[in-house]
Amino acid sequence: MSATPTIGVLALQGDVAEHQRVLDGLGARSVPVLRAEQLDRVDGLVVPGGESTTMSKLAVRYDLMEPLRKHVRSGLPAYGTCAGMIMLADRILDGTAGQETIGGIDMTVRRNAFGRQTESFEAAVRIDGVAGDPFDAVFIRAPWVESVGPGVAVLGQVPRGERAGRIVAVRQGSLLATSFHPELTGDARIHRLFVDMVKGHA
Ligand code: GLN
Repeated sequence: MSATPTIGVLALQGDVAEHQRVLDGLGARSVPVLRAEQLDRVDGLVVPGGESTTMSKLAVRYDLMEPLRKHVRSGLPAYGTCAGMIMLADRILDGTAGQETIGGIDMTVRRNAFGRQTESFEAAVRIDGVAGDPFDAVFIRAPWVESVGPGVAVLGQVPRGERAGRIVAVRQGSLLATSFHPELTGDARIHRLFVDMVKGHA
């Protein structure tokens, strides 16, 4: 790979442009991914936030689900935010009937876990591997990670309040996932971690 990694953003649905802006700002070359053959030409993949049920249906309809699974299984680095975290989970709770995921991370993720009262909120979350201040994390109808397998590193948890200790950031090998949306807050540190993972993987 050249010094400029090409990072795809799954563009079926969700906040694709926001991720592209952050990735390009970090010196990566971002490209929207809508077709299976595009997966052969990227060094990493971001699965954005949005609505995982819709994303799942569209991935099946556009014949992308199997190719996505194949690439992730064979080591393509991927980063999922919010709905994207759900998409990278091996197991989900409170999904819709027949909702499929790409999988890859040995974890169980609960959709819309933070509930109605807190549809959207912010919290300062310390992220392992991200130096400096805690991350100003924005949660929008966010999932949390209910449990993880032995190969999964927990990188971040809700620090205090009713939901203290809930897992909201994880990593397994070259797969990264957060319940929150760093593409919306102008803090590129988690994207930088992912770009470094992509570079390190080459
Ligand atoms: N609740 C959404 C879902 O289930 C995720 C919300 C988001 O990505 N902001 O997919």
